[in-house]
Formats: sequence, C-alpha cells, structure tokens
Amino acid sequence: MKALVYGGPGLKSWTEVPDPTIENPTDVIVRVDTTTICGTDLHILKGDVPAVAVGRILGHEGVGTITEIGASVSSLAVGDRVIISCIKSCGHCVNCSAQLFSHCLGDEGASGIGWVFGHLIDGTQAELVRVPYAENSLHRVPDGVSDDQAVMLSDILPTGFEIGVQYGRVKPGDVVAVIGAGPVGLAAIATAGLYGAATIIAIDLDENRLARARDFGATDAVVSGSADWKEQVLALTDGAGVDVAIEAVGIPQTFTMATEIVRPGGNVANVGVHGAPVDLHLENLWIQNINISMGLVNANTTKMLLKLVAKGKLPAEKLATHHFTFDQFLEAYDTFGRAAETKALKVVIA
Ligand code: NAD
Ligand code: ZN
Repeated sequence: MKALVYGGPGLKSWTEVPDPTIENPTDVIVRVDTTTICGTDLHILKGDVPAVAVGRILGHEGVGTITEIGASVSSLAVGDRVIISCIKSCGHCVNCSAQLFSHCLGDEGASGIGWVFGHLIDGTQAELVRVPYAENSLHRVPDGVSDDQAVMLSDILPTGFEIGVQYGRVKPGDVVAVIGAGPVGLAAIATAGLYGAATIIAIDLDENRLARARDFGATDAVVSGSADWKEQVLALTDGAGVDVAIEAVGIPQTFTMATEIVRPGGNVANVGVHGAPVDLHLENLWIQNINISMGLVNANTTKMLLKLVAKGKLPAEKLATHHFTFDQFLEAYDTFGRAAETKALKVVIA
C-alpha cells in the first residue's frame, strides 16, 4: 500500500510500505477512504515531537471501510463504514473506566498517548490502517452522514467540545470567548452554541478565520493584537469578564490572554498544545477564584456528536474547505501548511 511516511524533521514522502496485518484478536484493518491533516502533523514534521520515530506513518483522523477483523471482534463486520477515532482505547483499564480514553493503559506494550495514531503507532494517512481495540475505537457511520462530516469526528469536534466546552463548563446564557478560530476553535464555537451560550466571542489575528467563526455561531469577533482587544471583549460583558475563556492556539501569549478576560469565578479551558512554558500568575488568579482546566481529548463524546451531525445540528462539513486525492498528498500538506494564504480550514484527502 502507499502511505505518508515521516522521514525526520522537515521530511515526508507518499511512498510504498508493507500492508498492515492483524496483530491481536481485538484488531481490525480499515481501508482508509477519507483522511485529513491536523496541526499536530505539522508539529511532528517540524521535529517538535521527538517521540515520533522516522518511518512512522502519520495521521490520526479518518473514515474508512473494514476489510479484515480480529478473532475476538464481534460488534463490527467486514464492509462496515466507520469513523476512526484519533484515540484507541481498551475500554476496560482503570483510566478507560473513568472515560479517560487518551490515558488507556492497554495491554499491548504502548500506553497513554502512545495510542494516538501517527504517534507511537502507525496512522491513518495511508491506504490501510491497523486499528487496535477496534470495538472501542471505531464508530459506525449512519447512512446520510458524508465522509466530509464524519472525518471531523475523529478529533476536531470532540476536542473543541470536550476540552473546550465541557471542561470549561459552559452553561445556558454564558458569555464564552474562544481564542483561536482554527478548526479546533471553530469546533468549540459550534458546540458552545449547543450548550446554550448566549454570547460567543471569537478572537483571532486572521480576519478570514473571524469571518468563518460567525458561520459556526460566533456572535462577535475581536481582532487579536489590536490595541483595545481586551476592552472590546470586556465591553461585550458589561465590564464583568467572560464566564468561560477557551484557549485554542497553544502559545503562552494566548493562555495569558484567556486569564486576563475571565470574570472572577470563571473558567479558563486550555485546549492548545503548548510547546513552551506559559506564565501562570497564581498571585493574581487565586484572588479571582479562577478555574483552569486542560487536557488531551478523550474522544468519549464522538457517538453523541455524530447524532447531532446526522440530524444537521452541527455543520461539520463546513470545516472541509479543500479536497485532494491520495496521489496529491504532498500538495494537500502544502495547502494546509499555508492556511493563512490558502484560507484552508481542513484539507480532505479521499
Ligand atoms: P490552527 O493553527 O489551525 O489554528 C490556530 C488559530 O489561532 C489560527 O486561526 C491562528 O490565526 C490563531 N492565532 C495564532 N496566534 C494567535 C494570537 N496571538 N491570538 C489569537 N489567535 C491566534 O490550529 P487548530 O488545528 O485549530 O488547533 C488549535 C490548537 O489545539 C493547537 O495547539 C492544537 O495542537 C491543539 N489541539 C489540542 C488537542 C487536545 O487534545 N487538547 C487536540 C487537537 C489539537
Ligand atoms: Zn484502557
């Protein structure tokens, strides 16, 4: 088969590799029909994630068709069309029992974030992928849900919802600010609306992304870095501060921004993956009774979000802005890597 293989910092190729095989009775092999590229793949390619070995097949999002099943898999069948969750989990270890699927201890050697595809195990940017713990890691796609919609449920929608909206404890009537209107921030914006947020303020440097934010349900948009950005946000809250500030960028500056606009007793939900230490001013935050949450997506809400997508209540397909074939994989990476120019949100490869 062909796959997108990591060749070390700055290097990748769409190249011939051996087909994956069933290694454990709980495995399934999926023919990848549709996949996409995540900002995390760009981090890996920059060399920011040294745990990823040269030769690893990248990618952790995908929709496909089951071609082979392990001996103990009974709830899935060859021919099923499935969403491949970015997180694979055994479903029964102590962490899985607490719904912390991203910290699955498993019993196959790898553990914790090792279960994210394209990290310590081969990923979904390939014609075929081995899915460990398939019964807990694949979700059947109902008729009427397109691949463009379904592929957003591998990672982007659960991440914005679980780590942004749920950890941020968004309630009906809340004022929510989302810093960073990339695919993850847009997913947080769309799902904050489902929880009844009254005001959703998108904050980004990029005017195109702010315009997209309104398509996903943002009520207001503020240009990050403008001299009076903070005053603009506070004015939308009658000076009180926002109930929930969701950080969806992953740089120290935007984490600080989130802590500066939240009201006393409010919530800062950090979704961004930080490659550098942030400033945590507990000397200021403690007196404001601020709650701070963060974490790796568990993808334990995928089935619930899938129902909303199927009923047209979550416009997942709007995230798919560019389409490529598998043979155009390198072009897809180029388009995604230059998102500010190309206006790409998610590039879909099928
Ligand atoms: P992205 O790069 O597409 O979007 C980031 C957005 O932030 C862009 O629109 C950019 O214009 C904006 N931005 C940059 N600097 C800014 C600033 N100073 N102020 C305001 N906005 C600014 O990324 P994405 O795919 O949407 O992912 C967002 C973050 O979520 C990344 O850090 C990613 O690694 C992380 N992530 C976390 C998880 C998790 O499990 N917690 C899962 C997936 C992705
Ligand atoms: Zn587990």
